[in-house]
Amino acid sequence: MVKGIEEIREALWSTVDYVLLDMDGTLLDKYFDDYFWEHLVPEKYAEKHSITFGRAKEELLAKYRHHEGTLNWTDIDFWSEELGIDIPALKEQIRHLIEVHPNVEDFLSALNERGRKVFLVTNAHYKTLTIKLRKTELGKYFQRVITSFDMGAPKEEPLFWERAEKALRFEKEQTLFVDDTEEILFTARDYGIRHILLKDRANSKEKDRSHSGNFPAIKDFKELLPPG
Ligand SMILES: [Mg+2]
Repeated sequence: MVKGIEEIREALWSTVDYVLLDMDGTLLDKYFDDYFWEHLVPEKYAEKHSITFGRAKEELLAKYRHHEGTLNWTDIDFWSEELGIDIPALKEQIRHLIEVHPNVEDFLSALNERGRKVFLVTNAHYKTLTIKLRKTELGKYFQRVITSFDMGAPKEEPLFWERAEKALRFEKEQTLFVDDTEEILFTARDYGIRHILLKDRANSKEKDRSHSGNFPAIKDFKELLPPG
């Protein structure tokens, strides 16, 4: 049975010591990433190959699908090479579109104030991570930031979690993990992370996605703020 949000919120402010948070779609609006990969990159790709935007998008989506859930997918140097487009430079160009989801900073402050150990765990490439943390100034809230590159495996794989547990020394029973990708949540749950939560409304400009109902879901971090 799926635990309710209330139950998780209670655990968070009593027994939970470690809070692991995903970045893109969870803390930050995924609109930036969706716009980047589904609009801006196809536009550049179309120009480069003198093809239509539609054709470019079709070709790119096939490439994306092929590498989804792997380290390649998150490796922007890989994509620069694969597509012949300077991906980090292009991201830098639209960094003004990077936005933090509502109430995230209040939530992170509350975690810090109450002594929770807070870790950012992301599949993002370190170059993307740098651009995003510089723009949002969220880095100060985390005791540590780890990427799938540091761990040598994406969060979709159990190996990531084995290595993350060693690196961060969290206790699975006293840990809450929040992510907007269900496949990752399944891996984390199977690994034994006790409290798992889905972040809904990853992209603020898209309507809410349907999900499997395997995990409790929040639309906004205000749902997790401490009582009072
Ligand atoms: Mg995410």
